[in-house]
Amino acid sequence: MTEVERQQVTALGKVLAAERRDGCADRVTDDGLLAFLRRWSVAAGSAAHLPAVQRAIGWLVGYDGMTLAERDQALAAAIEELRSLFRPAPHPPEPAPAPEPAPPAPRRTATRQVRNRSAQMPKHPLAELDLDAKLEQITGVEARLVGGFRRLGVVTIRDLLYHFPRRYDDVSRRRSISELQLGAEETVIGEVTDVRTIGAGPKLRVRVEVSDETGSIEAIFFNQRWIAQQIKVGQTIALSGKVTAFGGKRQFSSPRWERYTPDPDALLHTGRLVPIHPLTQGLHENQARRFIKHVIDAMAPRLPDHLPPHRREQARLLPLGEALAQIHFPDSHETLAAARRRLGFDEFLFIQLGVLQRKRLWQQELGLPFTIDMQVHAELQRRLPFQFTAAQQRAIGEIFADLQRPSPMARLLQGDVGSGKTVVAAAALLQAVANGFQGALMAPTEILAEQHAKNLKQLLSRVRVPRKATATTPAETYQQADWRALLDPDDAAKLAEIVAILGMTPEEDMEGQGVRVALLTGSLGARDRRRVLEGIARGEIDLVIGTHALITETVQFANLGLVVVDEQHRFGVEQRLRLKNKGCNPHMLVMTATPIPRTLTLTIYGDLDVSVLDERPPGRQEIRTRRISRSEREKAYRHIRKQVAEGRQVYVICPLVEESEKLDLPSAEEMYERLQHEVFPDLRVALLHGKMPAREKDEVMRAFRDHQYDILVATAVIEVGIDVPNATTIVIEGAERFGLAQLHQFRGRVGRGSHQSYCILISDSDNQQSKERLAALEQTNDGFKLAEIDLQLRGPGEFFGTRQSGTPDLKMAQQGDTRLLAEARRLAEAILNDDPELAHPEHQLLRQNVDAFWAEALQAG
Ligand code: ADP
Ligand code: MG
Repeated sequence: MTEVERQQVTALGKVLAAERRDGCADRVTDDGLLAFLRRWSVAAGSAAHLPAVQRAIGWLVGYDGMTLAERDQALAAAIEELRSLFRPAPHPPEPAPAPEPAPPAPRRTATRQVRNRSAQMPKHPLAELDLDAKLEQITGVEARLVGGFRRLGVVTIRDLLYHFPRRYDDVSRRRSISELQLGAEETVIGEVTDVRTIGAGPKLRVRVEVSDETGSIEAIFFNQRWIAQQIKVGQTIALSGKVTAFGGKRQFSSPRWERYTPDPDALLHTGRLVPIHPLTQGLHENQARRFIKHVIDAMAPRLPDHLPPHRREQARLLPLGEALAQIHFPDSHETLAAARRRLGFDEFLFIQLGVLQRKRLWQQELGLPFTIDMQVHAELQRRLPFQFTAAQQRAIGEIFADLQRPSPMARLLQGDVGSGKTVVAAAALLQAVANGFQGALMAPTEILAEQHAKNLKQLLSRVRVPRKATATTPAETYQQADWRALLDPDDAAKLAEIVAILGMTPEEDMEGQGVRVALLTGSLGARDRRRVLEGIARGEIDLVIGTHALITETVQFANLGLVVVDEQHRFGVEQRLRLKNKGCNPHMLVMTATPIPRTLTLTIYGDLDVSVLDERPPGRQEIRTRRISRSEREKAYRHIRKQVAEGRQVYVICPLVEESEKLDLPSAEEMYERLQHEVFPDLRVALLHGKMPAREKDEVMRAFRDHQYDILVATAVIEVGIDVPNATTIVIEGAERFGLAQLHQFRGRVGRGSHQSYCILISDSDNQQSKERLAALEQTNDGFKLAEIDLQLRGPGEFFGTRQSGTPDLKMAQQGDTRLLAEARRLAEAILNDDPELAHPEHQLLRQNVDAFWAEALQAG
């Protein structure tokens, strides 16, 4: 390379690298990358004719029509070609102006390291290697290939077998030339009758004519000068691609091609369902595919299957080796589907074996069996201003059955916003108290804890519970009416003090038989807090409500019997261990804040039993939901004014706290200023956002609840189950910025009282997915339906906004595939029934795979 050429190539590399950094959006040049390439080629002179540059440009042909992933790969490959020009300088070491910022050190040196190491590592034919052997141990493998795969995280033979194609190009229909359909993806096989290089520079094309007994067709390769050296007249080749027309003649434009051999199985790149594997710098499509095929052919037939044959047949699954061979090089759509089913099944099976084993472990623990006190339960029902719904009754029945068992309950209560989970939890907590145990309820925020405490106190403190004098009072005296006589004067005084701190009136105390509910939050004064903690430790307090700090802090319970978790996110394995480490095995009830699709429930909460509240309490109106554009905001404001005039309150949600230069969205602060000073100067407007200190947030929220404000402008902090029944309208600005589950949660803030409620979604987004999300909200109030739609639209990873820690990532299985999941769960149960520890020799491989799968999942999380 001359100095001038070097400069030209560097300039090109910089643009390609910039384009890649920009997310391959084709906007780093004014008129698109292809136009830039054309201009560059003309200006670059001899540099444009360097073979490596030609190859680089070859990768980018059709760039504007590629998907983002394809563009990224094409750019990576092109950059790699350019880099090769700067590589090993035999004599004077050339300064290597990397066309791209240098990648992190371990990566940059990967290839070199491999080379060094492979010098030491003995090579073996594939037939002698096992799955955990490194790729570099394979006889004849190129270091460059090994380095390329390493960059993709593919190090061992096993990794390679599980490095699945990201899609398949169906060019399996082989035609004679006269049958070719315009516009279809087709494959022909014929003899090369002419090869010609036409034009020069960026306009260079190689024109190949291929003929069979029915006719002939042209294939045009743009800017790929080397093709003319590879394809020779007289050869038989296969061509696959889309048939286009040019100047009235049919042709293939930059088709896939390979030299034809009569063995149909030998076709790799054409004439079949061609696998498109994820690639990276240094990995060229055909070369990688050929290598993968080489490894699959050798390994698949001798791959041990972790499923014993009778189990595999029971579940109608392909043998593992066959499935892996077919996933990479499918013979047909049918075998591909069967391979997907087998490999997806495996993932579900590993998950289910893991969660079911965990469930079994939890159930082996000795718990605290309760005796259900129906008298007390009836008393609760009498105190409620409504009847339980059938769904609530069913859930309570399931919970009571669990509570009577000797093993601890581990149950998930799923229900839509407003489905009445709290009273179900109250019924369970009351049984704990009636059995002489304590209960705890954990809420995601202090203000929610406060709300729960208020509700539970109201509901339960007038229910008379059988009372022991102290935690150690013998059972005979359990029901004794004058149990307080058994207390020594010191204990009696302490009890009186607690009752006073809890603010219980004599009617609530009922001679000491009312349920004592304590709220343990930061707002408690130091002295009272100490007394409450003492009361919990002495067993004088029956129910404790607080945040997650309840289990993380040093709260000592006298005899904790039931924990209810009203959760916003996830109450995982780790927290449960903490609970157990508190020295007891309490029953546990987890309540979800948002409905979760069934498949996800079985995965994330697969170790819990599930009760569902699929029915809304009667008399609820649908919340009227409408999407409007920003130019229609005035309508929303007229509506707000009307609602406030009727004495109602309003939420206005904004996606951002502060003004943003990049995003053209109203911030909460701006919105607050505008609403308070310009739009509604006569109304009382408050502002709430996540950057405010917790104490201040709680104050604003409390003031809004007490109707000291008419309008609350807030960011997403409002999301959690806050209950202000007088709030009837929620306006959500920039609605497209929120997930469906989150929008549904927001909407659940209204419609909590008897007044007709409204949700106004403001969005100008044209994005198809956003439009579908918002339309779904307009159409249904059913959280479970919305959750399913959300899962379909966004995929499981994003369902919660962030990835759930400890949730395995699925490579092959579809989260929505309920049926396959159910089958896998059934097989997992059958296997564990026979062999709970997976200790049989026939399950040895299975156990290893389950362990490895979870190890990876927990690491990734
Ligand atoms: P969530 O499931 O969202 O936690 P809550 O438990 O807060 O719902 O209940 C929402 C409202 O519905 C509360 O005001 C509660 O008193 C009321 N409610 C619960 N169950 C019923 C019922 N069976 N009939 C009528 N109202 C009910
Ligand atoms: Mg709730």
